[in-house]
Amino acid sequence: MKILSVNAGSSSLKFQMYEMPEEKVLISGTFERIGIEGGMYTIKLNGEKIKKEKDLADHSVAVQTLIDELLENKVIESLDEIKGVGHRLVHGGEKYASSVVINDDVIKTVEELSDLAPLHNPANLIGVRTFIDKIPNAIQVGCFDTAFHQTMEKREFLYAVPYEWYEKYGVRRYGFHGMSHNYIANRTAEILGNKNARIISCHIGNGGSLCAIKDGKSIDTSMGFTPNAGLMMGSRSGDIDATLIPFIMNKTNESLEEVINDLNKKSGYLGVSGISSDSRDIEAAANEGNERAQLAQDMYVEKIVNYIAEYYLELGGADAIVFTAGVGENSKTTRKAIIDRLAPLGIKLDEEANNVRGEEKLISTPDSTVKVYVIPTDEEVMIARDTYNFINK
Ligand code: ADP
Repeated sequence: MKILSVNAGSSSLKFQMYEMPEEKVLISGTFERIGIEGGMYTIKLNGEKIKKEKDLADHSVAVQTLIDELLENKVIESLDEIKGVGHRLVHGGEKYASSVVINDDVIKTVEELSDLAPLHNPANLIGVRTFIDKIPNAIQVGCFDTAFHQTMEKREFLYAVPYEWYEKYGVRRYGFHGMSHNYIANRTAEILGNKNARIISCHIGNGGSLCAIKDGKSIDTSMGFTPNAGLMMGSRSGDIDATLIPFIMNKTNESLEEVINDLNKKSGYLGVSGISSDSRDIEAAANEGNERAQLAQDMYVEKIVNYIAEYYLELGGADAIVFTAGVGENSKTTRKAIIDRLAPLGIKLDEEANNVRGEEKLISTPDSTVKVYVIPTDEEVMIARDTYNFINK
């Protein structure tokens, strides 16, 4: 059975098509610059990567182009073969604790939740509507970035602010990267052969969040009301003192929107180093002796170590610490800097094993008190699984 896994943004659309339940990727790709001049798309098929330029006036043109490519390349003979389309949806608020079959009510609710994710939910919904229009016979499933974290207890997800803010306006920690942390929870439990394992999942990429997992459930996570909370990231500040915002507005005459933009786009690695939001550039500059790049790297590591320590106590110890996403899967330097700081807990890195990129591997020594793994994440397959499970019910 063929299932499409889709991630629609305001000007982009990523997709993977799976043969399920084998979880075999048949074709994948990305459409970029939708609704902007200079549209283009890339497709990966049979180990080959094809790049094409084509003006993509809107999402409808992009999805039609995708369908044409599927037919031309004989990935499908007819549209009826696509039994399900799974959509990544960013914000499900408190309404959705798991994936859901999309109907008019769901669309309405996700629309209402746009208040909480104004940049993402409306863009995700454009994708949903387009696929309903183009592939009406397929079941459409919504998979939320926030859903996995709905198991958090109130004492973890509430901010110490007036309680009515939560009751009236939904002010709380929601957490994101849920599909990724859920994948890591499943895969690590499988590797350990222990579904009750205590796991600290470190999803560190351009955006980053940590998640404390017990019995396969999210106990705590570092992102908050929005994805600009918790860790220092590529260009996001992570946690700050909120009163810094009016102070800077006053000093620079920037508007509220501009300061928020500074915190999302001009902070993190980029803001501290003044060089780049990309961890590879930071590492390279630090190696050449650039002090601010080294400072940015030290701060980045510090924040992650602090969260690991916090979650270690929250979980009452840990069975595994897992590194995933761009930096976690690829940067042995960052992993080593983090694990070396965990020595007081008896956690030890196997430096030779740590010399790994983008593949599943145990990177701690046999006598380490906690197992440390690199596990490439796979959010797309989680979407395909959830979609398949609804059809197969
Ligand atoms: P996103 O959050 O946008 O999905 P990714 O998970 O793709 O981001 O992560 C992007 C980050 O991964 C970038 O900071 C990039 O520098 C980093 N990265 C990728 N490869 C390496 C590498 N070999 N060494 C260090 N960092 C890397």
